[in-house]
Amino acid sequence: MPEVRFQGNPVLTVQHAGGWVALVGIPLSQPLGQTQAELRSTTGAPLALPFQVTGKDYVTQYLTVAPKHVDLSERDLSRVRAEQVRIREAFSVFSPELPNTFLFVSPVPGVRTSSFGSRRFFNNQPRNPHSGMDIAAPVGTPVRAPAPGLVVNTGDYFFNGKSVFLDHGRGLISMFCHLDTIDVAEGDQLQTGQLLGRVGATGRVTGPHLHWSVALNTALVDPALFLQEP
Ligand SMILES: [Zn+2]
Repeated sequence: MPEVRFQGNPVLTVQHAGGWVALVGIPLSQPLGQTQAELRSTTGAPLALPFQVTGKDYVTQYLTVAPKHVDLSERDLSRVRAEQVRIREAFSVFSPELPNTFLFVSPVPGVRTSSFGSRRFFNNQPRNPHSGMDIAAPVGTPVRAPAPGLVVNTGDYFFNGKSVFLDHGRGLISMFCHLDTIDVAEGDQLQTGQLLGRVGATGRVTGPHLHWSVALNTALVDPALFLQEP
């Protein structure tokens, strides 16, 4: 298996048509223009794999949430900083197994919003763009594994609420947020369709829904890329 890195992180590579393809996740913060991944070789310097990043326009959303989730207290701020480390660690997991599939099943049947990438104002203050897919559903709706995966982290986070992280293999990681209950534990191996938790309204939300993020080489990408068109 060739070892490819992008911004220092290992990249998912898959055999295809007699060669290898690198599936590189591009973060929303990536500047437009030329950039490169690097192919590690056992002899000599890494080989550059250059490519162009082109732009995409995203909408702007204005949301109203509890003030404590926008103007953070000192205590909440230090909590968030510690949680960011744990979240980064969960997204940095890179297991050698190839994902079982790249065609995911929706984790919740419901109205999918296409708000990935939208610029967001919480209580009229600008915040990071939306880095996942929101699916509206009532509290208690089962959330199911969209593909086989290993539970690598669970927790109750300040912004994300009760969350589950699933490692699908080679840096392809799902995160499910704002859960009412978590029904799995770290180390559980889930098959497609297995219950992992229930929809809730924990963390920074305007109402009950599932927030689903998908990471490739630690970059959050649009989960819709892995779903069949409805
Ligand atoms: Zn969301």
